[in-house]
Amino acid sequence: MTHDYLQVDDLLTDEDRAIRDTVRDFAQTELAPHVAEWYDEGTLPDGLGPMFGKLGLLGMHLEGYDCAGTSATAYGVACRELEAVDSGLRSFVSVQGSLAMFGIHRWGSDAHKDQWLPRMAAGDAIGCFGLTESDAGSDPGSMKTHARQDGTDWVLNGSKMWITNGTFADVAVVWAQTDDGIRGFVVPTDTKGFEAHKIKRKLSLRASVTAELSFDDLRLPADAAFPEVRGLKGPLSCLNEARFGIVWGVVGAARACLEEALAYTGEREQFGRPLSSFQLTQRKLALMAVAVNNASLVAWRLGALKDAGTLTPTQVSYGKYANVRAALDVAREARTTLGGAGITLDHTVMRHMNNLETVMTYEGTEEMHLLSVGADLTGIPAFR
Ligand SMILES: Cc1cc2nc3c(=O)[nH]c(=O)nc-3n(C[C@H](O)[C@H](O)[C@H](O)COP(=O)(O)OP(=O)(O)OC[C@H]3O[C@@H](n4cnc5c(N)ncnc54)[C@H](O)[C@@H]3O)c2cc1C
Repeated sequence: MTHDYLQVDDLLTDEDRAIRDTVRDFAQTELAPHVAEWYDEGTLPDGLGPMFGKLGLLGMHLEGYDCAGTSATAYGVACRELEAVDSGLRSFVSVQGSLAMFGIHRWGSDAHKDQWLPRMAAGDAIGCFGLTESDAGSDPGSMKTHARQDGTDWVLNGSKMWITNGTFADVAVVWAQTDDGIRGFVVPTDTKGFEAHKIKRKLSLRASVTAELSFDDLRLPADAAFPEVRGLKGPLSCLNEARFGIVWGVVGAARACLEEALAYTGEREQFGRPLSSFQLTQRKLALMAVAVNNASLVAWRLGALKDAGTLTPTQVSYGKYANVRAALDVAREARTTLGGAGITLDHTVMRHMNNLETVMTYEGTEEMHLLSVGADLTGIPAFR
């Protein structure tokens, strides 16, 4: 990492560093030149899945089923390098690997795993994860989507909102109420009764497809349900995985903003001097550098804890809150240093800033993560 004042990347293993370099090279050469156009059009090109799959980025830290089986830290580093280009691209990989694939890997039957995971690891099958509903966001336990048994079949009715990759997914992991509590279902998206509609007019995470899903008497065989897990424990375990990727990913977005602010203010002159020579600008740059480095250290530490198998959900909430807030503040400050130029897609700062508004909201809002830490500190859950 440039300006790695705490030398965090020295703490990575050789393998993690090799993965960092490969993903960075791929992201900067194959993704960065096109991302402003994708963002402008509010879409993603076909074929990203197999490209990510070839690099081993999908379900990267999962074992078996053709997944790369890397350390959690290596997965984090990959998220960082992808999100240095755009949060939407990291979201694609997060939803595929940490939400859909992890869900199937952790809670699916052997048949689910055999059917889906190798194809998903290769990027030949894309997954999405349906938890949120229009009336059930921060409080997913109030979801209305339900599955009832009809003979041995399940019949699914309801809808899901804000579902990343929803329109082009081959398989959806859908969480629904049943007589036996909330359960997860593996739903091939070509099943009769499944519909996905793209959500338009987004001002954030535009290089990512977000959809509303609906299920109308969608009939599934008995074995479509995850066999064991009941209640919110299932979806929350997946979210915990994806949040870990965010803790790392946003360091990349913040770093990219710092780098752009440094480059721009070093070049542009006002009052006969480069912007970077003004004390107020240097203060901004220094504060950004401190924030990026501190966030990097938080990410590394959480990676070490995850690799040691001791990472707790409260620690993930801490990291998600701290790093997303830091990255958003860095992006906003970086944008000011570019003046008017900073509001265009010719530069990255405002694209990152807008993206980070979504990152602050999804996978548990900033408020939810602070409440989680608050509950841990006080022993009093204040969610309701
Ligand atoms: C681009 C995008 C992609 C997404 N992708 C997915 C996906 O793939 N799959 C999926 O299932 N979901 C996805 N989501 C949904 C996301 O997880 C939810 O938007 C998020 O959980 C917040 O829910 P909500 O939007 O309903 O907001 P609400 O829950 O209505 O919250 C609105 C505000 O109220 C605050 N609030 C709520 N309850 C409390 C409380 N008790 N105390 C204090 N403040 C509170 C919140 O913190 C927030 O600030 C995505 C969202 C976006 C924007």
